Amino acid sequence: VMPSINLIAIDGPAASGKSTLAEIISKRLGYFYFDTGAMYRAVTLAALEKFGDVDEELHVVKLAGSIKIDVRPPTVEDGRTMDVLVDGKDVTWQIRTPQVDRNVSKVSAYAGVRKAMTEQQRRIGERGQMVMVGRDIGTVVFPDAAYKIYLEASPEERARRRFTEIIQRGGSADYDEILASIKKRDEIDSSREVAPLSIAADAHIIDSDGKSIDQVVEEALVILTPQEKM
Ligand code: C5P
Repeated sequence: VMPSINLIAIDGPAASGKSTLAEIISKRLGYFYFDTGAMYRAVTLAALEKFGDVDEELHVVKLAGSIKIDVRPPTVEDGRTMDVLVDGKDVTWQIRTPQVDRNVSKVSAYAGVRKAMTEQQRRIGERGQMVMVGRDIGTVVFPDAAYKIYLEASPEERARRRFTEIIQRGGSADYDEILASIKKRDEIDSSREVAPLSIAADAHIIDSDGKSIDQVVEEALVILTPQEKM
């Protein structure tokens, strides 16, 4: 049996709504939701803590190979969709700071970091029954995934959603800053040499501009075959 037969790959740019969609689909199907961006974020956090910056590629690559990153179903009910552990320490929320946002694309462009993370992701993905979310899942990590969705939205729409999300959580945010940061990440993620953000030839593209979450979920469920549907 092909391990990727019950693997759903969802790729797309930053803040396109991938995690929201994946969370809903995985709940409906009883699948595990695996957000691979969390791994790149975990390496970034570890590098920032150890070196203060992420500029020394060799050091960061070595670190990526030496730390143990784990993801597992959530054990704390605080809005998280999974636990993220680095060497046994829970870093689920620490990897979501603006400082990590600003540095993660640089870290994820390092070939050695990608190699280490891709290996770990394949090992985890082989458990099957999984919705795997990232930038290169359908193109590089699991090119033979049973289903591939590429979720798109304009930078303005994505910035608006991120802005609303932060405000609703009681935080403060600057729309123009968020928009600039999203565009910057798109730029780095799309232009890097190894596994750039790109659309797999056999991916179903969903453009979520102007659509509600329900509409996007509906579109995604149509793509999944009847047996995979609820
Ligand atoms: O999805 P999220 O925004 O949390 O991902 C953070 C960063 O990790 C992305 O901007 C990208 O640079 C990197 N990433 C990647 N490949 C993946 C998932 C994430 O390069 N499969």
